[in-house]
Amino acid sequence: MIQSIDARFDKIRREREEAPKEIEKLKEDFDFFKKAMEQDLSNLEELKKERRKGERELEEIELKFGKSKLKLDEVKSNKEYQAVLKEIEELKELTFQKEEVVIKWMEDIEIQEKEGAINDLRGQESQKEYKNKEKEFSQRTIELDKEVRSLNEKRLQLSQKVDKDLLSKYDTLRMNLKVQVVAPVIDAVCQGCHLGIPPQRYNELMKGGSPQSCPNCNRIIYWEDDRES
Ligand SMILES: [Zn+2]
Repeated sequence: MIQSIDARFDKIRREREEAPKEIEKLKEDFDFFKKAMEQDLSNLEELKKERRKGERELEEIELKFGKSKLKLDEVKSNKEYQAVLKEIEELKELTFQKEEVVIKWMEDIEIQEKEGAINDLRGQESQKEYKNKEKEFSQRTIELDKEVRSLNEKRLQLSQKVDKDLLSKYDTLRMNLKVQVVAPVIDAVCQGCHLGIPPQRYNELMKGGSPQSCPNCNRIIYWEDDRES
C-alpha cells in the first residue's frame, strides 16, 4: 500500500527530526559541565596563587626572625634587649597568624579539588552519553537512508499499478499538507524532510541545470554549500 509506505516515510522523517534535538540537548548538558570544569581549574589556580603568596610572606617573616635573633647578641643595654625580645614575640605571633592563613588556603584547595573531581566525572559521563548518541544516530541515518531507498523503489513499483489520476490526486493532497514547498539540500540531506538524496541526483543538483525535486517529499530542492553555512 502506498499509504502505508508514506506513513513510514513520515515516521522516518519524525525520527530524523527528533534525534538531532536530543543530541543538541545532550551537547548542551556537556557544554555546561565543560564550563564548570574550566571554572574549577581557574578557581584552583587562584587558590594556589594565594597559598604561594602566604608561603612567601612566611619566608620573609622567617628571615626577619633570624635577624632579630642575631641582634640579641649585639645589644648593649637592657632596654635594647627588651625591645628586641618584644620584636621577636611580635614576629612569632605574626608567623602563627600567617600559618593559619596558609592552612586555610590548603583546606580550600583540598575542597576545590574534591568538587573538581566530581565535576570531572560528571563531565566525562555527559560527554560519553552525548558522543554515543551522536554515533548511534549517524549509524541509524545510514539504516534509514537504506530503508528510504527501498521504500522509494517499492512506491515506484506500486504507483505503476494504480490508477494514474488517483495517484496524482493523492500525491497533490499529500504535498499540500506540507507548508514549505522549496527546501535546501545540505550535505546530501533534504532540509525539508531530513532524508537523504540519492547520490546521482545529488550530483546533478550540485552541477545545477534543470530544477530538481526531492524524491522523498517532492519539495523543489536546491543545493546549499555546507561549507559556507
Ligand atoms: Zn525532501
